[in-house]
Amino acid sequence: MLNLTEQLQLMRQFYGTGATRSYAFRKQQLLLLKRAVEANEEAIYAALEADLHKSREECWVTENGFFLTELKDVLANLKKWMEPEPVPTNLLNLPSSSKVLREPLGVVLIIGPWNYPFQLLFTPLIGALAAGNCVVLKPSEFAPATAKIMQQIIESCFPPEQVLYVPGDGATVIPDMMNHFTFDHVFYTGSTAVGKIIYKMAAEKLVPVTLELGGKSPAVVEADANILVAARRIAMPKYSNAGQMCVAPDYVLVHQSRQAELIKALQQVIPQFYGADAAAEAGYGRIINEKQFNRIVGYLKDGTIVYGGQHNAADLYIAPTVMVDIAPDAPVMKEEIFGPILPVISFNTMEEARDIIAQNPNPLAFYVFTSSADKEKAWLEAVPAGGACVNTASLHLTNPNLPFGGRGFSGTGAYHGKYSFDTFSHRKAVMKTPTWFDPALKYPPFTGKLKLLKWLVG
Ligand code: NAD
Repeated sequence: MLNLTEQLQLMRQFYGTGATRSYAFRKQQLLLLKRAVEANEEAIYAALEADLHKSREECWVTENGFFLTELKDVLANLKKWMEPEPVPTNLLNLPSSSKVLREPLGVVLIIGPWNYPFQLLFTPLIGALAAGNCVVLKPSEFAPATAKIMQQIIESCFPPEQVLYVPGDGATVIPDMMNHFTFDHVFYTGSTAVGKIIYKMAAEKLVPVTLELGGKSPAVVEADANILVAARRIAMPKYSNAGQMCVAPDYVLVHQSRQAELIKALQQVIPQFYGADAAAEAGYGRIINEKQFNRIVGYLKDGTIVYGGQHNAADLYIAPTVMVDIAPDAPVMKEEIFGPILPVISFNTMEEARDIIAQNPNPLAFYVFTSSADKEKAWLEAVPAGGACVNTASLHLTNPNLPFGGRGFSGTGAYHGKYSFDTFSHRKAVMKTPTWFDPALKYPPFTGKLKLLKWLVG
């Protein structure tokens, strides 16, 4: 029986054979994966129901259906993306020609979290396979049913020297791998705290990283917003998966003149989505485990509850909740909530709202609800964030034509669609110079050639 490091070395050897490089191979591997995921649709639903109480509909939109949409997009475009990209050549080097080649990185590690345990492990896998890499997959240990079905799918599709599935305790197996083997890239999704640990281990060996982290993503509701639409579009992603979504609106900053109206609208739309008792609603999620449950319930004392607040530890249930009267230094405003509690805080001036946002800089996403083009522009410029939406929230991540990623505390790098392919490819710069033209003036001695060099080098 091989140990983990020996298995990784076998992957390196397999990668070195060049087997993963051709378009035909990459396409075949992606198709294999697609068919296996389609064939296991029911098992995936059952696993996500067991881990997070997700409905089949929610799974389709955010997990397996999301994955299949991305996969189809990549299959339709991969050939084109793999082609050498010709670029112009500067005067100094004429008559050379220049191009950018996309080459695979090698053996890459993808680390997933528990909140969208299927999508957030398998979607980066599409990019890594499309780019011709060998891949190590590390699922979260906190979504065990989904981790198990993903393992079955991977092991039915790929030999371990090409795609190796490594379940287990992250704090043990990840350092074990990263300290004894030099990956060519590490793609990590999860908390900022663990992201720092991964970044440090990667830095020791100068391994490049993509970090998809969390943070407090604000939603600003301006005085001129359509309040009912804003309430719907904030509540939908906020309470989806019981708020355990990296791009969920973390808190709302509403112009003081519309605060009462927004709260009324939230009180109206939440029961329309989840009934008077969300605990009885099949489509409403549960908190992943007791530790997270206790952390989130702790925030309920940080303000006045104007909707929800009910919770039940035995069922890991926390009702969709709206809170007001929150002190700026309350814990709920200092940490990513990652649960179904929505603080609603009022502001008078843009500066006031910006100061609150600046307490948690560089959020993964920023949302603004306004009917004014000037306000939209001002807000988009005012808040540095990974991504943004205007008059909607969170849905930017479902468009594969947009790069998805954070900045600073919310991460580094981006993926989805072509951006995934680029993330898992190296751009190799290639210049080719013909031999028939080789004038002496290109060679030393250069004395007296300054005027010519100024013209050539511009
Ligand atoms: P986490 O950091 O606990 O775990 C993520 C992964 O890291 C798991 O696979 C785990 O095994 C591993 N891990 C845990 N401790 C480790 C350690 N000490 N050393 C090495 N590896 C370790 O994250 P989580 O709680 O699963 O996910 C929630 C967080 O992820 C939230 O902050 C959320 O915002 C963020 N997130 C971000 C995105 C995004 O796309 N940017 C998506 C989902 C979640």
